[in-house]
Amino acid sequence: MQYLNKILIVYTTPVFRVKKKHNIRKRTMGKTTDQRRGDITMPVKYLKGVGEVRSRWLARLGINSILELMEFFPHTYIQRQINPSLHEVQAGDRIALTAMICWKEARQTAKNINQLNLGISDGKSLIICTWFHYPKQYEELFEQGKTIWVSGNVSEFNGQLQLLHPQFELITDSDLEDDFWKKRSVLPVYHLAVLLTQNLMRKLIYSAFEQYALQIRENLPQELIDKYSFPTRREALQKMHFTTHPEQVEGIRFRFVYEEFFYTQLMWARHKHYHQENVSGIAHEHRKVLTRELYKKLPYKLTNAQIRVIREIFADMQSDRQMSRLLQGDVGSGKTIVTLFAMLLSIENGFQAVLMAPTEILADQHYANITKLLEGMQISTCLLKGGSYKGKSQVKQAIAQGEIQIIVGTHAILQSDIEFASLGFAAVDEQHRFGVEQRAQLARKDKHPDLLYLSATPIPRSLSMTVYGDLEVSILDELPPNRKPVTTLVRSSAKIDLVYNEARRELQKGRQIYIVCPLIEESDKVDLIDAERLFKHISEKVFKGTSCALLHGRMKAREKDGIMLRFKAGEVKILVSTTVIEVGVDVPNASVMIVEHAERFGLAQLHQLRGRVGRGTEQAYCYLIEHFPISAIGRERLSTIAGTTDGFAIAEKDLELRGPGEYFGYEQSGLPRFRFANLLKDQDVLRLARMDAFDLVSSDPDLQKEENLLIRQFFFQAYGHKEELILY
Ligand code: ADP
Ligand code: MG
Repeated sequence: MQYLNKILIVYTTPVFRVKKKHNIRKRTMGKTTDQRRGDITMPVKYLKGVGEVRSRWLARLGINSILELMEFFPHTYIQRQINPSLHEVQAGDRIALTAMICWKEARQTAKNINQLNLGISDGKSLIICTWFHYPKQYEELFEQGKTIWVSGNVSEFNGQLQLLHPQFELITDSDLEDDFWKKRSVLPVYHLAVLLTQNLMRKLIYSAFEQYALQIRENLPQELIDKYSFPTRREALQKMHFTTHPEQVEGIRFRFVYEEFFYTQLMWARHKHYHQENVSGIAHEHRKVLTRELYKKLPYKLTNAQIRVIREIFADMQSDRQMSRLLQGDVGSGKTIVTLFAMLLSIENGFQAVLMAPTEILADQHYANITKLLEGMQISTCLLKGGSYKGKSQVKQAIAQGEIQIIVGTHAILQSDIEFASLGFAAVDEQHRFGVEQRAQLARKDKHPDLLYLSATPIPRSLSMTVYGDLEVSILDELPPNRKPVTTLVRSSAKIDLVYNEARRELQKGRQIYIVCPLIEESDKVDLIDAERLFKHISEKVFKGTSCALLHGRMKAREKDGIMLRFKAGEVKILVSTTVIEVGVDVPNASVMIVEHAERFGLAQLHQLRGRVGRGTEQAYCYLIEHFPISAIGRERLSTIAGTTDGFAIAEKDLELRGPGEYFGYEQSGLPRFRFANLLKDQDVLRLARMDAFDLVSSDPDLQKEENLLIRQFFFQAYGHKEELILY
């Protein structure tokens, strides 16, 4: 036993052996071999020490199976020895180090806020850790003489270096029950959720490896492993958790990034191949009838970007392949008019055209805009919504008989009872709000119409091609002239009254105001302002006598629409809301956006929120209210958003500030979720993986060749169901 422990310490990664259990046979009679031994893909609740409750906590981190637990990587590592490097530290540095607790002091500030100071030292220099509003148990927790690991941003206060609200972990052995971790010189640190602790995570992960390490299967062929000198999958997984050389981890992570990209790109490569072989689309002719008519009557000049993009779209629509094109353009870049040109091209070829929006409000808005732009032209249009209402069946009939040329609507358009006479073109606004299935449904409609997906979420140029593997991309990178950029101001919550005063001036000019606060998760114990409390405060105190309304996610769609319509009509002056205010909703008279707890929002979200104002001709204002304490990343986000209105620059920064596997928010922004890869930092790997995947498909599209057996097995097991969705 003594001997084995020594081995564990000497080797970088522990050697796992399968434990023999004597009572196995009795407990699991009648089950297959795999189940008897326990399969690595089983739900994580079956792992010893997990169970129902903890498995729900793990699910919050995206961990559902035992394998996923083993694939849940630490975000950083703790070196257990005290690290004598404090003397080099300066304000502004981001540090993580192990030190000794020298003293602690609990006090109250002049404003009666509880403050805890902790002096920690590496034996030579000292730094102070400070917490405000800290949990009471910290006072017991931090004992003089204990070793502590801290991580955070260094600031300076009265000439003394300080870490404000650092992340920390006490690394005394007492609560490390596991013999294994006690002896490690390096400890992994994981993202946590609910009541999970670092110690519990370490214990569970060790236990998973102890029982299942031998079941970890390779998912890359030897050829690729050799090509990139990858470690085997088992070895790589072990090293991610049990390394004693954290500086080497980045090189190992590369393997996981590669495999993730490789298989997703393989899926898109196969999709493209399938599409090319099996689907023929419509070849539109550039007749220059309706499109010219629209061009002549436009109330403004098209921007150069709009002209370029219309050309790209027309060229694509003239080919006999089905178009699948993403039109990216920042809020207000003028995507609607571009879309309308494409619709008219299809209509002058005798087809029908569709514009689909994610909500009724947006559909209404598009319908109103489009009918206005088409005034005086002989084009029949209709609005199609969900549910049953008066006149709907006549509309459906008119669509089926080809009497209607432009159909604007919600996803009601996709319903199977909607038949088209001949659908030639379909556009999808805010495409990320629709799932892949809905996309596929539309792509398969009628004669395989040409498809245009609209997105206001800017993705860095270099990425969009590869992220949406199957789509061609057009970018509107120019705003129409004479737009006044929104004045963006970051204000501390202590100064909120000044902000309200400035907003009051806008109200007096007849303008309207949005006030947004963050969504509150159940598990959040942080004291946040919630929408209801804020609404009460605003409507009964601050802006008493002004008509206010509250909008939140638990309302029914109908109710939300009603409130939005009243705001749009100017009946409601102040709209207090969670983040549900619709992306794309256009209320030109609104000139002030106040975002409470702005430090809690992602960059893409802040950018979208700001885009709700500044849509009229007047100067607009966006106030970002920061609440103390604020994380370094939170602060960086705020200064980014205040510093630029360029959506692409913001998107780039957004990706930079996110770590790999940080999947909260990815869906919101419409980006697919990757567990290992960071789309910005790992672009080179993406390119390699994409090339390898496309090469493979061009030589063996059905993955039938002997040497591709392993790829085929893994691909169909892990990606088969996803691929079915996109074979259209
Ligand atoms: P988005 O890309 O956010 O959907 P819209 O298509 O709604 O933008 O256009 C935003 C506003 O800009 C609309 O009021 C539209 O009439 C106007 N617009 C579009 N193109 C131009 C242009 N070239 N010059 C002036 N105004 C334009
Ligand atoms: Mg729009």
